[in-house]
Amino acid sequence: MDNQSKTAIITIAIVIPLSSLAVWNLDQPVMSYASANANQKIVAITSFYPLFEFTKEVGGNRVEVSLLIPFGIEPHDWEPTVKDLQKMQQADLIVINGIGFENWVNDFDSINTDVVIVDTSKDITTNENNLVSHPTDPHIWLNPVMAKKQVENIADALMQIDPTNKEYYSTNANSYILRLEQLDEKIKQELSQCKKKDFISFHSAFTYFADQYGLIQHSILESNEPHAEPTSKNLENIINLAKNLDIDVIFTEEAVDTRTSEVIADEIGGTVLVLSPLEIGDKNTDYIEKMEQNLLHLKEGLCN
Ligand SMILES: [Zn+2]
Repeated sequence: MDNQSKTAIITIAIVIPLSSLAVWNLDQPVMSYASANANQKIVAITSFYPLFEFTKEVGGNRVEVSLLIPFGIEPHDWEPTVKDLQKMQQADLIVINGIGFENWVNDFDSINTDVVIVDTSKDITTNENNLVSHPTDPHIWLNPVMAKKQVENIADALMQIDPTNKEYYSTNANSYILRLEQLDEKIKQELSQCKKKDFISFHSAFTYFADQYGLIQHSILESNEPHAEPTSKNLENIINLAKNLDIDVIFTEEAVDTRTSEVIADEIGGTVLVLSPLEIGDKNTDYIEKMEQNLLHLKEGLCN
């Protein structure tokens, strides 16, 4: 085969998949659900990872769910681009955590009023936490009992927007809620067998979780922002606290500098494990599996 025909074949091989990709990526005009055909899927945009999963579970094959904050990106200080805002304007539903976790939603609200914004924190009792960035603690998804309410809120919104398929959403929500109840029961039972109650998380994400299971959370960062830097005073305090409470597991989380936790663990002769705030999406591990991993790591610190 001469070089020219080789090039031609390579060109065809490359051009065909790319051109079909281009067709698939064309922005289709999205009608609002009310005016749409009954067979058309509801377009839901979810702000970050746990909500993406909850909405997929409830929406099943009736809802096309996408994740706004990309996998691997930490949501606390994320801001949407113009393109993201345009994408949101074309959706039927935007699912948010609420409690000020998605501050950008206020800007969005004024641009487009047709889209239904589902605040999944509705009817959940929250804690004040005296922080300027988050005056109220947003980390409700880490408490399975609160996560259940978030799932119910998503189901309510879908049933309202698409009443024809009410039964379908209700069945999906109930079977997922059952799994969350089993998770809650498992955490409750396994942690109740641990003598220790104090643990040191990386940022202060586990207050609702700790309250639910009778634990006491301390955190390396005084701030609620996972990207803040601990001061040397912080580190000194945490090292002393760990020694006093006989803590030998120091937690870190995804996408932060693990050296912070390692420095503390070295000082106390302990180990570092991940306690995930489930803020960063993981394509291979779902919400329940991630919570079970957290449970395993917590037991490592509390039951030994
Ligand atoms: Zn957080």
